[in-house]
Amino acid sequence: MTRFVYDFVEGHKDLKDLLGGKGANLAEMTRMGLPVPPGFTVTTDACREYLHTGSAPAGMLAEVEHHLRMMQNQIGKTFGDSDDPLLLSVRSGAKFSMPGMMETILDIGLNDTTVAGLARRTSDERFAWDSYRRLIQMFGRTVFDVPADEFETELAHARHAAGAGTDSQLTAGQLQDLVHSYKKVFHAHTGRDFPQSVHEQLFLAIVAVFRSWNAERARVYRRKERIPQELGTAVNVMAMVFGNRGQNSGTGVAFTRDPATGRRGAYGDYLRNAQGEDVVAGIRNTVGLAELATIDPPSYRQLLSIMQRLEQRYRDLCDIEFTIENGKLWMLQTRVGKRTPAAAFVIAAQLVDEGTITLDEALQRVSGEQLAQLMFPSFDEAAAHEPLTTGVPASPGASVGAIVFDSAQAVVATGPVILVRRETNPDDLPGMIAAQGILTSRGGKTSHAAVVARGMGKTCVCGADELRIGDGEVTVNGHTLHAGDIISIDGTNGRVYAGAVPVRPSKVVRYFEGEVTAHGDPLLAAVERLMIHADHVATLDVHANADTAADAARARRFGAGGVGLCRTEHMFLGDRRVLVERLILAEDDDGRDQALAALLPLQRADFEQLFAAMDGLPVTVRLIDPPLHEFLPPLEELTARVARAEALGEDPGHDGALLTAVRRMHEANPMLGLRGVRLGLVIPGLFAMQVRAIAEAAAARAAAGGDPQPEIMVPLVGAVQELETVRAEAEGVLASVPGAPPIRIGTMIEVPRAALIAGQIAGAAEFFSFGTNDLTQMTWGFSRDDVEGAFFGRYLDLGIFGVSPFETIDAEGVGELVRIAVTRGRAARPDLTIGVCGEHGGDPASVRFFHDAGLDYVSCSPFRVPIARLEAGRAPVTASSSDSR
Ligand code: ADP
Ligand code: MG
Ligand code: MG
Repeated sequence: MTRFVYDFVEGHKDLKDLLGGKGANLAEMTRMGLPVPPGFTVTTDACREYLHTGSAPAGMLAEVEHHLRMMQNQIGKTFGDSDDPLLLSVRSGAKFSMPGMMETILDIGLNDTTVAGLARRTSDERFAWDSYRRLIQMFGRTVFDVPADEFETELAHARHAAGAGTDSQLTAGQLQDLVHSYKKVFHAHTGRDFPQSVHEQLFLAIVAVFRSWNAERARVYRRKERIPQELGTAVNVMAMVFGNRGQNSGTGVAFTRDPATGRRGAYGDYLRNAQGEDVVAGIRNTVGLAELATIDPPSYRQLLSIMQRLEQRYRDLCDIEFTIENGKLWMLQTRVGKRTPAAAFVIAAQLVDEGTITLDEALQRVSGEQLAQLMFPSFDEAAAHEPLTTGVPASPGASVGAIVFDSAQAVVATGPVILVRRETNPDDLPGMIAAQGILTSRGGKTSHAAVVARGMGKTCVCGADELRIGDGEVTVNGHTLHAGDIISIDGTNGRVYAGAVPVRPSKVVRYFEGEVTAHGDPLLAAVERLMIHADHVATLDVHANADTAADAARARRFGAGGVGLCRTEHMFLGDRRVLVERLILAEDDDGRDQALAALLPLQRADFEQLFAAMDGLPVTVRLIDPPLHEFLPPLEELTARVARAEALGEDPGHDGALLTAVRRMHEANPMLGLRGVRLGLVIPGLFAMQVRAIAEAAAARAAAGGDPQPEIMVPLVGAVQELETVRAEAEGVLASVPGAPPIRIGTMIEVPRAALIAGQIAGAAEFFSFGTNDLTQMTWGFSRDDVEGAFFGRYLDLGIFGVSPFETIDAEGVGELVRIAVTRGRAARPDLTIGVCGEHGGDPASVRFFHDAGLDYVSCSPFRVPIARLEAGRAPVTASSSDSR
């Protein structure tokens, strides 16, 4: 038979699924012999059944009553006893912590009779009536949805009538009157009296906690944190202890290390003569935990020793809630505590130093996401004033700029701007690209602004709902700002500041750049240590996507083992564009050969620099990929220029020829048009020129004593014949360049067909590199530029994806193509090298996928190289189902 209730002495910390985090940890502390008030946990099974059927499971109530009797025997007090009543708290507690999302009700067991018993036993009439009024308030709000302000209004009246500044100045008599008015509020809203049966109170409270699992804010929180909606919460019923019994009592929260910096020592807040929520509610001023050493030295010493034991038991930072009742310390909660990214690294390294965990485990305690956070520039907190307001941190970074209210202004602005809008839509795209950052007053993490900004790596704060955006101005908390005024936005914590807050480059980035050493800095030392270990255990290499020598050099400083993708198209831009125009407009072979001959030395020089920067490491050069019309002026612009010339009776000349070419080359779906290998096959000499430039650059480097290791990568192959044709031509060119080192030829796998026939393609390719952007677009059948702004927000809200498939690889669909291509490719050519060069190569979750899929390397932007290295090291030591929530 399923049991629905477990006593604290029966559970332990690994029963979170059944008992919830709070229940499992209360049980663990009980088991360790720590002073935990007696109690029991109603299981998540019971909650799920309740949520399913609408009523508590048969037998649950009897079990509750049974455990309650055991508790009464242990404590020597009886629930509902008019002389010496036992009081209970009823607390929610799910598997994953959901701070403040669900309900807790304190002081269950008080009624018109027991309140007098409590007053007599404690000789404290004021305390008893205060507890009773708190119960009616919490119970009314939680169980019967009585609006909280109704009670607050009554409380304010009572204070006013008594001329009392704070609640604690109300006398027993005044609190008794307040209980009377609270009961009226209760009756007015529920049509019934406040329950005098303590057993009914308990039952209703348990069920109310079950229901609070489905409260709107809890659902939203879970969606955001990706906590399954069907888990349900456990309910903890425990004996009340009282921190509000006078100056020898109090309540507090504590951390075993500083959750902000990771520094060792006990941190926390303590509030004398207070109960539960008073600490967090910030109603009264708390004191630092250290002051407890003077207020109550024995309790302080006991607390410190308990904290030490908890750290040993959990082998990690713990946070704690405790209460002191008349000098007696009680533990009310503990769990492995949340921490900042910096603290995560510092603590992981400390725990290794202390001999508590291994370096492998230390890697499990940090994440690529956290490292990414540490690599963003940040505001100098010391120099920042009060924020104007705080919104949803949607895309990290720290940006400063002048306010613009529409995209057109952002585009024409000369200095840095922040685009401020109620919300954004696809028409705002140019403005979003032009702006430093984006601030909106509506929408959450899946709004258009948030999704697009994250895709662009741009700072975004959204849903700052205190902003009133009007005509050319924005008001917030009494301040009015106009277009052109400078603001600063922090996409890591959602803060919005007036004026320019000084931006500090990340010290972790400065460390990777080699500008500072890790010596003497606990954070940098921890990062260094974990990176070294990650590199040591990783089986997946990390390369970088770098098109220039400068990018390549940075990637190398950041630890890249090669360039996995050098795009050659930038070598056709700027003042070289005219050469490309000549190539496109060439009317015969001669004209085309001349244009190509002019491009050759320029490309060769670019490659020479790149190979020098990556001397001794592989550099994978991708032959030209985008459609050629991207190198010509836009159709609209040319049409206007030609029309103007014709209207003035002038000869449009070159523009006329360009317009004809652009019209001829116009494509309805350029993404699926004449690009990649297709270009190389229809434009004679184009690929050959690029191959020659690579080979000659390599020969020159080798002659100069260097060790160039270029590879040639052919994009967008879908048929092995395409690759065979290009290969034959390339091999001919390579053979004709004296002194060139051996150069491998491989292909991108980015068309679904290529993944499916990877066995054939491997016959002509020495390596594969997955282009996961195109592969994702073509597998889903949507183009990133069109869809991200258009409907991804809606899809994310509907849960069609948990995360954009352009951010994290779609393991089921696109990932299946990757797995197929790996298997078939390696079957045909066992020494095939396989990498990935799409942006997914720098996404932590995707890196794990590529490790599992057996790739040799991932390639990502230079800035993300350390993140990918860390994740590559974490992959072999962390089970893929690991869950850090
Ligand atoms: P949350 O999950 O929101 O932190 P809790 O269940 O921890 O909610 O309850 C909130 C507060 O209520 C606790 O921090 C504690 O101060 C107080 N509380 C809970 N149970 C008891 C108890 N048995 N005795 C005294 N105070 C309690
Ligand atoms: Mg708590
Ligand atoms: Mg591509």
